[in-house]
Amino acid sequence: MNSLFRKDLSDFKPYEAEVNNCKVILNANESFINIEKQLEDEIISVIKDIEINRYPDPTGEKLRKIYGSYSGTDKEKIMIGNGSDELISIICNTFVNSGDKIVKLNPDFSMYKIYGVLHGAEVLEYDLKEDFTLDIDDFIDFINYEKPKVVFVSVPNNPTGGIVKKEDILKLIKSVNSIVVIDEAYFEFYGNTVIDEIDNYDNLIILRTASKIGLAALRLGFLITNSTLLMELYKVKPPYNVNSITQEIGALIYENKQVIEDNISRILREKSSLQISLLSLSERINFKLYPSGTNFILIEIYEAKELYEYLKNNGVSVRFFGKGRLENCIRITVGNRDENRLLLEAINKFLGDR
Ligand SMILES: *Cc1c(COP(=O)(O)O)cnc(C)c1O
Repeated sequence: MNSLFRKDLSDFKPYEAEVNNCKVILNANESFINIEKQLEDEIISVIKDIEINRYPDPTGEKLRKIYGSYSGTDKEKIMIGNGSDELISIICNTFVNSGDKIVKLNPDFSMYKIYGVLHGAEVLEYDLKEDFTLDIDDFIDFINYEKPKVVFVSVPNNPTGGIVKKEDILKLIKSVNSIVVIDEAYFEFYGNTVIDEIDNYDNLIILRTASKIGLAALRLGFLITNSTLLMELYKVKPPYNVNSITQEIGALIYENKQVIEDNISRILREKSSLQISLLSLSERINFKLYPSGTNFILIEIYEAKELYEYLKNNGVSVRFFGKGRLENCIRITVGNRDENRLLLEAINKFLGDR
């Protein structure tokens, strides 16, 4: 039977989303606020009106219009996806033939590599510097030497939380002949964007997601680019990729911009206080806190693995990577006040128990 399988996938490891029964879940960069509770009546009423016997609107006309006004872009420049994960797959499927190169940073979001490999690409990884910043000129040289079809960069970076200055992003887009995908999954927390630049470059694609602002269960992502690239991408997009329930709830929530903004402020306030607490802990023992433009904080600590396991055994789930440059790192999503307190108490106990 396995003679029928793809040989190039024989050693391929699927993405393993960690499932656990911890009380405090701080491992997936989700929002700790349940928007569904905030807009419950409105959500129930839009769901009631859905004609479930009909296919969804293939391009999500209404949702694009609302997201366009939320994000300050023309709806004709937007494509919707089943999470931005699907849009990454669509990008690869549109531009990458078997054997073509794509480039991603190391570390950066792992799905770029997974979809790259699945579409037969040779995936090249360019290392961030020791402090997780990017040497933009050297990166541009690397790209111009390797000539990949597509370059993926998340800004801010997941999992480091680090940013690339807008002028450096624009320099990158201008200086290479590849499609440059700027993944702005954490835009709402960072506030800076290159979305206003889409018509100034023929090779820029932007990704956004609803997942980090409290809608991870919906599976909804957005791709924003110029009309020429969008036309190519539409050749590949599955016709009914975003279901009607997601489209309706998505439209409702992006129309309630104030609710989103209030929630983001609340998350950012908890983030500041968590950062302050972690910083004071880090002075007691030796661990490093990286700057973050997101809703999570990356720490580097010699006993990362032990701490990760200790936290898990104490009902707190954080993200541990366990290899490469991230060997000693733990990524902590900002939780609500109680969750952050439980996290800090557990870290404190871990330090005391040693
Ligand atoms: C979470 C995340 C995504 C995935 O978003 P979905 O819309 O949930 O598929 C994409 N890119 C980055 C950098 C992320 O952190």
